[in-house]
Amino acid sequence: MTSSDTSPHAARYPAGALAFPHRDLLGIGQLERHEILFLLDEAEQWVALNRQRTKHSDALAGLTIINAFFENSTRTLLSFEIAGKRLGADVVNMHAAQSSVKKGETLIDTAITLNAMRADAIVIRHGSSGATGLIADKVDCPVLNAGDGQHEHPTQALLDALALRHALRERGETADDFTGLVIVICGDILHSRVARSNLLCLQALGATVRLCAPPALMPSGIEGMGAEVFHDFDAALDGADVAMMLRLQTERMNGQFIPSAREYHYLYGLTKARLEKAKSDTLVMHPGPMNRGVEIDSEVADMIDRSIITQQVEMGVAIRMACLDVLTRRARGVEGWGEVA
Ligand code: ASP
Repeated sequence: MTSSDTSPHAARYPAGALAFPHRDLLGIGQLERHEILFLLDEAEQWVALNRQRTKHSDALAGLTIINAFFENSTRTLLSFEIAGKRLGADVVNMHAAQSSVKKGETLIDTAITLNAMRADAIVIRHGSSGATGLIADKVDCPVLNAGDGQHEHPTQALLDALALRHALRERGETADDFTGLVIVICGDILHSRVARSNLLCLQALGATVRLCAPPALMPSGIEGMGAEVFHDFDAALDGADVAMMLRLQTERMNGQFIPSAREYHYLYGLTKARLEKAKSDTLVMHPGPMNRGVEIDSEVADMIDRSIITQQVEMGVAIRMACLDVLTRRARGVEGWGEVA
């Protein structure tokens, strides 16, 4: 299949399977392996477009996309806004601080209001796990989850997979998926929607995932999701191909979870010395925002041959363009895209 083939029955997917049979993108948990690969493949055309001087498509011309952000965001909001604009859509951002939410409006009333404005896609970030699913039930258009509480952040996991795939290809590796790779996700696993979405995505693509955190920041029973659990970062890094670092999500912490930032850095911070003990080509990732000097040192974050943190940001725009494009195909009447699961 070529990246411009919009057929929902592309040859590389299971016989008869729709490439993407969902109305919404609420979580990686709803996706099959071939659906993840389909979105990654779709994003490639947008990576190419975004690298040109003129970065414009009319694919979504005339459509209205509302970015409804009930929680702070820098790169995700900007990335979705740029994605929608590069596809030719009219993009409107709604910030909770300026909305009627502050006046006590319920989430359902907000959803009904957004729906009445006849949005063609709604992108939502909300502090409560499951809030995006609640809104999706109340509106007629596709809903994209831009992070809901501690639950999921699917476009982050997809952009991480795309950035990793690109980095591996630059090294001459041609595999489509991550079979055989060992990926460490280290940090505040307990409060991280990025960890959850990435665990699901990376495992679906064949990787072995090691989760590393102090005991208080590791969700109990996470082994049941197939992850290898570590509390010793050096042991987790041993033989790892990728170290994905996470921020301490202090805004979600009720009380004291770590003795001090200094001790946390000593035990779980990715320093140059620690990285040097791992494999010679271990890649470094971080979803941002970074707390330099806490979970990651500057000299590691800025290491051009190892860190792919800026590539993650670049891939974020492309993957969001792919998601917006694919999810609006049915409403746009793109040939072959009539069916919804
Ligand atoms: N930006 C990511 C999120 O929204 C990670 C983070 O905030 O630490 O979950």
